[in-house]
Amino acid sequence: MSFNDDLTPGLETLGLETLAIRAGHERTHEQEHGEPIFPTSSFVYGSAAEAARKFKGEEPGNVYSRFTNPTVRNFEQRLAALEGGERCVATSSGMAAILSTVLALLKAGDEVIVSRSVFGSTIALFDKYLAKFGVVPRYVELNDLAQWEAAFTPKTKLLFAETPSNPLNELVDVAALAELAHRHDALLAIDNCFLTPALQRPLDLGADLVIHSATKYLDGQGRAIGGAVVGRDKELEQLYGVVRTCGPCMSPFNAWIFLKGLETLSLRMEAHSRNALAFAEWLEAEPAIERVYYSGLESHPQHALAKRQQQGFGAVMGVEVKGGQDAAWKVIDNTRVMSITGNLGDVKTTITHPGTTTHGRLTDEQRASAGIRDGLIRIAVGLETLDDLKADLERGLKLL
Ligand SMILES: *Cc1c(COP(=O)(O)O)cnc(C)c1O
Repeated sequence: MSFNDDLTPGLETLGLETLAIRAGHERTHEQEHGEPIFPTSSFVYGSAAEAARKFKGEEPGNVYSRFTNPTVRNFEQRLAALEGGERCVATSSGMAAILSTVLALLKAGDEVIVSRSVFGSTIALFDKYLAKFGVVPRYVELNDLAQWEAAFTPKTKLLFAETPSNPLNELVDVAALAELAHRHDALLAIDNCFLTPALQRPLDLGADLVIHSATKYLDGQGRAIGGAVVGRDKELEQLYGVVRTCGPCMSPFNAWIFLKGLETLSLRMEAHSRNALAFAEWLEAEPAIERVYYSGLESHPQHALAKRQQQGFGAVMGVEVKGGQDAAWKVIDNTRVMSITGNLGDVKTTITHPGTTTHGRLTDEQRASAGIRDGLIRIAVGLETLDDLKADLERGLKLL
């Protein structure tokens, strides 16, 4: 019995929770419960003729794990189903996903419009490395469609946005941005790392490519580094060529971890969102707090857009305390439960001071224009008991 073959034609009819558990799982007598890992570099053949057919691609099957691997393929099928894409290519990290996308779709002289608030390494990738090969990035404010429009030139081939932004939870209207991109014959890629397909499906909104750092919520438990791109066959075939030739492929062991992570994706993201919203509402009423940046709050300027294009608001928020960096550090240093770390995407709550960590290398002006104020703390709310998280911050807030 191959359940997966039966499943594939009807994927659209199955719910997200079912897909997260069943898609990309080859059900056989041995594999019904466990999902196997194939920790192998290469594959063997019954004859020279079979090897020749497989190498030529005349016959389906695996050749070498830089090209394809059964465990990695299962992960790719599952994530493609969850994002509603035709195909997924897994990569060794989120950054490898972004690099592979750009290598596949852009050439020297092409321009890419990028929202300024994207992940720090994404900016470095464009400015430090891709610029060497003549790819030109133009930066715009995520939530200002007029700036996106104004940044187009005849050389613009790709728009790259991360929504919601980290840590201020600014959003872009994905449907409107996709329309803009397509009117100019450009493609739109959305980094969907913060919400995952459980809370936002950019392809449904018109985006052409979805990019993931699987390292974050797809795994959800901080166990492995990986990434992926999902989209149409046409672009993904080019991306696959890059990964297969240049080598930033996902390891089978990591793919197996991500398959396990995906099984609980919806449950986790709902619980993250529920905890985060209650936490944000509580913080907003605390006298020592200047402002809470979270798209689930009615006070958020794009709350209506968040409700329209997202199925939830996610775990990550910015919390600005009164009293600048000293006050922010005091709150952070008085936590006992939360982890002080620049990472996120974990069942454990993490807390950091962006001004001196994730955004520490920016100049004062760059930080100010990015809205990263001295009193700002980023919290990625985990799945611990809410009252314990409140008590954890209250310890520091009381000292201010
Ligand atoms: C972490 C992250 C990345 C990079 O992913 P890695 O797996 O660390 O390479 C890209 N985009 C966003 C939004 C991230 O948070």
